[in-house]
Amino acid sequence: MRILIFGHKNPDTDSVCAAISLSYLKNQVGFNSEPRILGPLKKETKWVLNKWKVKEPKLIENVSGKKVILVDHNNFSESAFDIEKAEILEVVDHHRINFSYHSPIDFIVKPYGSTCTIIYELFKKNRVDVPLEILGLILSAIISDTSGFKSSSTTDNDLETAEEIAKLLEINLDEFKEEILKIKTDISGKSINELLNYDFKKFLSKAGEVGIAQIEVNNFDLLKRKKEILKEMKEMKKNVYHTLCFIISNIIENKTILFILSDDLEKINKIFKGKIKNNEIEFNKLLTRKLDIVPMLLKALE
Ligand code: MN
Ligand code: MN
Repeated sequence: MRILIFGHKNPDTDSVCAAISLSYLKNQVGFNSEPRILGPLKKETKWVLNKWKVKEPKLIENVSGKKVILVDHNNFSESAFDIEKAEILEVVDHHRINFSYHSPIDFIVKPYGSTCTIIYELFKKNRVDVPLEILGLILSAIISDTSGFKSSSTTDNDLETAEEIAKLLEINLDEFKEEILKIKTDISGKSINELLNYDFKKFLSKAGEVGIAQIEVNNFDLLKRKKEILKEMKEMKKNVYHTLCFIISNIIENKTILFILSDDLEKINKIFKGKIKNNEIEFNKLLTRKLDIVPMLLKALE
């Protein structure tokens, strides 16, 4: 029976490239697998697939009764809608573990900056040659997921893997990095609502549901629209979220602005040492949702 391999809902470049790369690896070692996506691709991911001449995976339909492998996520809320009815064979991921299953499976989670760094290690472990287009996908995903090695989630493994692959591909890593980041941070023509939904994830805290949107930019022009942003966030939060955050990371200035609305703003402000002013807090570094923001919020809302 064919195995379907897919990343999370609202797919990003790491999710898509990890599914394609792992599917290639699985097929080399005797399995029959195909990559899938859980939603339409972002401009950046389309550019990456086009650059390495790899075709877009098909959209997933249902996974009920099917054998599946999850990449770049391990929680059911971010997975296929009927994931509870699928047979999960394996997980390869780099997020907080939020998983339990009725039988033992291969569960590979490492605190790396990108799932694709783990997959490159799996190629080596299995002694399978990596074709050029898969090298290209893995490199692109590492750059994208680590914001060009600047995000706090970046590890030496990510950087070393990227350097090794750039050598194999005979491309200039810095130039390629700039190309990807230019596309990733291009928010022109997008409405505030589109930006809030661009890379949005939900978490369950003890106090209620927390929604966290995240985007990366190359300048802070967007901050001029703070009023509009907070208005749109209020609308989104209404009756749904206990806390709603919008992380705006400026990868040129290495600064992060966090907009935050919460039913317990005081508790959260305590955790952030009282620095939240007018629903806004600034950090002089690039913050990662999963490493910096989520743990703080979950702790504050305990
Ligand atoms: Mn992802
Ligand atoms: Mn990832």
